[in-house]
Amino acid sequence: CGIVGYVGGQSALDVVTAGLKRLEYRGYDSAGVAVLADGGLAAAKKAGKLVNLEKELVERPLPVGGTGIGHTRWATHGGPTDANAHPHLDGAGRVAVVHNGIIENFAALRGELAARGRELTSETDSEVVAHLLAEAFSGCGDLAEAMRRVCGRLEGAFTLVAVHADVPDLVVGARRNSPLVVGVGEGESFLASDVSAFIAHTRSAIELGQDQVVELRRDAVTVTDFSGVPADVRAYHVDWDA
Ligand code: GLU
Repeated sequence: CGIVGYVGGQSALDVVTAGLKRLEYRGYDSAGVAVLADGGLAAAKKAGKLVNLEKELVERPLPVGGTGIGHTRWATHGGPTDANAHPHLDGAGRVAVVHNGIIENFAALRGELAARGRELTSETDSEVVAHLLAEAFSGCGDLAEAMRRVCGRLEGAFTLVAVHADVPDLVVGARRNSPLVVGVGEGESFLASDVSAFIAHTRSAIELGQDQVVELRRDAVTVTDFSGVPADVRAYHVDWDA
């Protein structure tokens, strides 16, 4: 339901959880986060309100890193459980992905992944994306290209945001029929389903277009369409009071 991503010099976990709080008004049944730190990926997710996730993070703190993603879920496929909460990871725990929307052809994709010996651990339509991304990334070594390839196989409406432990300073996002906005800071970049998630940090925003993929780095934001053709992007100033 709500998505936040961050790359920069602050603690990604702090920025992402604060952003998720700003998105609480949208309603949700579970929440989760993933951060890249020390060459690895760490995630936490909990059914229920954000306070449940915050409690979990106190009991089992995540390492501090500058790259992270977060999600508040409004379940469509699979009940509101810890296992079904986002982020979803690939089997090796190197890729984490959060998803808003519905992947219509998830059953066929699950079947295909199972036939390749991949074990899925949730009942969501979203988890297939983590596995497909891991496979595509191991083929091309480029997370944005992996995202473009995976999006080409998905039917339905989606905002997807992913990180990979092999590329520590990068967040990749994609959208089709579901909103995604980039926030351009100084030496830091943000991404969210709604500008209110990052307005405390920057008022320079880029609205992602239909069928586009964004690469978010500390000092750069790159946008292409699903076939890799670079898109023209222009930041606008958010002048309303949040
Ligand atoms: N369809 C996904 C799920 O049920 C995402 C729902 C959402 O947009 O929060 O997990």
